[in-house]
Amino acid sequence: MIITILGSGTSIPQKDRSAPSYLVRSEEGAIMVDLGPGAVWNLVRNSTTGIADVGIVLITHLHLDHVADLAPFLFAMKAEEIGRSSPLTVIGPEGFIDYYASLRKLYGRWVEGAGYELEIKEWSGEFIEWGEFRIGAGRSMHSLPNLAYLLQESGPGVMFTGDGEPTPEMLQLGKGATDILISECSLPPGITEEGHMNPEQAGRLAEQIQTVTLVLSHLNPGCKAEEILKEAMAYFGGEIQVAEDGMVLTA
Ligand SMILES: [Zn+2]
Ligand SMILES: [Zn+2]
Repeated sequence: MIITILGSGTSIPQKDRSAPSYLVRSEEGAIMVDLGPGAVWNLVRNSTTGIADVGIVLITHLHLDHVADLAPFLFAMKAEEIGRSSPLTVIGPEGFIDYYASLRKLYGRWVEGAGYELEIKEWSGEFIEWGEFRIGAGRSMHSLPNLAYLLQESGPGVMFTGDGEPTPEMLQLGKGATDILISECSLPPGITEEGHMNPEQAGRLAEQIQTVTLVLSHLNPGCKAEEILKEAMAYFGGEIQVAEDGMVLTA
């Protein structure tokens, strides 16, 4: 599978880092993880995947830097030029059904599926299969319910932490199951804040689940690439990369 980082930043607007969003592609189709502000436009600008080709959207949590483009995404699908006909499933954490109900109350038919089947659901706790994809999720510790997602095709895959600190559930989900861990790293070295990770915590998580490559993402302006890389290296012996918008990875 091929992963494109569409946004490696946070809620704080930065010149070179958009809000969180990732595209995962294989021959089976395309999956997006998070739809931060600008994600829909970044998808079209940074890949050959059109929005009508995205079969599943996985929302980690309901902070706006992760979900704000859901409404524009669904709205864009109304355009005849997009020509969407294949089903779309959007999965989120606890509270997601209510969130979508609120969008519907505000925008009515403009965010409903027409001409294609739209399924909105909360994570059930069970792995789901989609073509060759196997998708799992586990809760992290964050100020809102947040799901880390594991995507596998055949063998180890990729895990996206979304926001938050690891839980035993997350460690169990990821252990030995990934080639790539895309971890949030909101905080610079030495700074701790409940519900977010610094490079030491991201490095420790990578070491604990024994991934091959750690990608530090969800970077605030205070996270300097060289500093966070050096710090994470002290806690994880595998390969480490600092995410950049437009970066492409293969798992
Ligand atoms: Zn965030
Ligand atoms: Zn958050």
